[in-house]
Amino acid sequence: MDFGKLVRQNIRDLVPYSSARDEYTGESAIFLDANENPFNAPYNRYPDPHQLELKAKIGALKGLPVENIFLGNGSDEAIDLLYRVFCEPGEDNVVSIHPSYGMYQVCADINNIACKKVALNDDFSLDAKALVHAVDDKTKLLFICSPNNPTSNSFDAETILDLVKKLNVIVVVDEAYIDFSKRQSLLEYVHEYPNLLILQTFSKAWGLAGIRLGMALGSREVIALMGKVKYPYNLNVLTLKFALDALKNKDKVDGWIAAVLEQRDLLERKLKKFRFVRQVYPSDANFLLVQVDKARKIYNYLVEKKIIVRDRSNVELCEGSLRITIGTDTENLALTDALMQYQRDFVDSCKI
Ligand SMILES: *Cc1c(COP(=O)(O)O)cnc(C)c1O
Repeated sequence: MDFGKLVRQNIRDLVPYSSARDEYTGESAIFLDANENPFNAPYNRYPDPHQLELKAKIGALKGLPVENIFLGNGSDEAIDLLYRVFCEPGEDNVVSIHPSYGMYQVCADINNIACKKVALNDDFSLDAKALVHAVDDKTKLLFICSPNNPTSNSFDAETILDLVKKLNVIVVVDEAYIDFSKRQSLLEYVHEYPNLLILQTFSKAWGLAGIRLGMALGSREVIALMGKVKYPYNLNVLTLKFALDALKNKDKVDGWIAAVLEQRDLLERKLKKFRFVRQVYPSDANFLLVQVDKARKIYNYLVEKKIIVRDRSNVELCEGSLRITIGTDTENLALTDALMQYQRDFVDSCKI
């Protein structure tokens, strides 16, 4: 694996910003080094730019040393940083599966990088051959979201690892939904393959989308490069504090995951009974992709009932489909009640 060739020259040469907190790292001192306000503790102080306390806790949970962990303002920060570290604007490209998470394309556009999209097979499986074919000598990143948003399925580990072995690119496996999946994370392979990078987040299973905290887990080399380019204080003290508190309550999170999975199965069974539902795709995530007759009409009907789902009916391979996030039992019941009424008002009456 030749990182030298993958990384942009200016990033290789970059001397990162050195903060006051970098130059003196001890505690219990009088801090007159960072031009902070001496009043209003503890919020007067800049946060630890390396987030070592939080990384140690996350590392213990994931079985990873802190050197293999990057923390950012959501996974979205990690995605953007990868472009800035590896992709020369106007020159390099990335490859992504399609359909998938929209941020890969948006970050590509912002950074003036071409994003080549490789369609999934009709059964939503990976077209490994087409992915290999799409990669050229200007390709720096390959995005594979697994479980995938919006198709809700996850991909075979062997197929992904084959690509990791075969391709001289950073393979980014976005595992935002891994806690809801029956498949294992690919985390254990980051020690074996320096070009494998895993994205995970506190936004889904951890119930903390509001504090903005995402993780990139990978080889020391890639993590060090991301650390070099990020804003020095990319995580604020409030986010650090909330995350440290949340990590003490892993049992609560496990309870939420179990509740969501139970509700997912229940909702899937109920949805399949509606006459306007063509199929509910098997889900490995906290949402269901549901193919229906007249998706837009159902979407609008639900909006009127103040229930908002995601209309994915114009997305390639998801034609006629709605993406429905699993809510609480009460919320899901409100949804199925509304759909029952829709069926009575529009589907049954049409047949008369
Ligand atoms: C929701 C989601 C994320 C999470 O992004 P954050 O910035 O961490 O909130 C990442 N990837 C995918 C595919 C998602 O659907």
